Amino acid sequence: MTEPLLVALATEAARAEHAFARLPERLGGAHLPRRPQWTCDACQTLDTPWPCAPALVLLSEHHAGDDAELAALLGALHAAAMADQPGSLRQEMLHAWRLR
Ligand SMILES: [Zn+2]
Repeated sequence: MTEPLLVALATEAARAEHAFARLPERLGGAHLPRRPQWTCDACQTLDTPWPCAPALVLLSEHHAGDDAELAALLGALHAAAMADQPGSLRQEMLHAWRLR
């Protein structure tokens, strides 16, 4: 791998971890993703893929009026989720991340 590519990957990973660290504040401590499987820690149905519907509502409310920041946050989290999953599970996870 080239040096610029390694720097870009490290930057993306740092951005994803920063976004993940900000979630408890933005979600009020509930409906957080369990890693590495990225299921909700609060929804009653076991193995509810994250982001669950309540998490999307809470994030939308938190970022009201700032769609660009919300999109950046979700993009960074999506990258973290993809990095956590082996290739065989990524297709299922991509389905879970479709906009609802
Ligand atoms: Zn949930």
